[in-house]
Amino acid sequence: ETVYLNGDWLPAEAAKVSVFDRGFLFADGIYEVVTVYAGQLFLLDRHLQRLNRSLSALGIANRSDSEWQQLFEQAIQKNAIADGFIYLQVTRGADTKRSHLPATMLTPTVFISATHIQLPTELPEPVRVCVMDDIRWLRCDIKSISLLGNILLKQQAVAMGGMEPLLHRAGRVTEGASCNYFIVKNGRLITPPKDELILPGITRDWLVELARDNGIEVHEEAFDLDALYAADECFLTSSSREIQPVGWLDEHMVADGRPGAMTRQLADLFRANAPIAAAK
Ligand code: PMP
Repeated sequence: ETVYLNGDWLPAEAAKVSVFDRGFLFADGIYEVVTVYAGQLFLLDRHLQRLNRSLSALGIANRSDSEWQQLFEQAIQKNAIADGFIYLQVTRGADTKRSHLPATMLTPTVFISATHIQLPTELPEPVRVCVMDDIRWLRCDIKSISLLGNILLKQQAVAMGGMEPLLHRAGRVTEGASCNYFIVKNGRLITPPKDELILPGITRDWLVELARDNGIEVHEEAFDLDALYAADECFLTSSSREIQPVGWLDEHMVADGRPGAMTRQLADLFRANAPIAAAK
């Protein structure tokens, strides 16, 4: 595996960062994950926009979109990626000592890798998710590398036999540890609004637009656990999982546990409009 680190391309084992890197010491950094379908970056512009938002939230200088694009394309080429993803991480850089207050003129640490993954080729079987209290901070809109809350929640969900947590704050549904959620009730497609409690998922946004372009109304509105348990359909979205039907909320079966009509329609729209995963 060939990775990019601060201007160099080198074998992953040879890529080293300082122990004074603020990413290592404080998780003072951000990341982005871009899906690659058949060697092509999917929805790159949207990822670069979100990257820009994350960087400016931390006060880290950005590069031009074309510079990122070139680096990502090189990473795809050097690793011969057909289907997979680009991982980009930018931290505030290596300081001279450990201090919460960063020195002013640090050079950001930039790391890029390209990894092959098997992307779904059809709608996957419904999964169980675990409804859990959202214990994370109040700026979940920043794609921060500080993911301890997400990790603890994911571990607990998996220990309880779920694939993902489905998080709520005082009964209001937010998102997962690494995905966004949608529900359908009486034909109404609902997903939580974009605010500081959720990451604005690229897949979420794209699906919302795709649905609207195809005459399906989408309601970006807060909903609570009562609405969740009353839902006819539930699914989650993320770059790597696309659309994943949810069949169980802990022990509660969503309708008959099978993917509903709206979920299947949206998955078909997704397939028809995304460059589909390369045939195996
Ligand atoms: N929410 C969280 C907390 C995430 O980490 C992710 C993706 N890793 C998502 C939502 C989904 O975002 P995207 O569709 O851009 O992958």
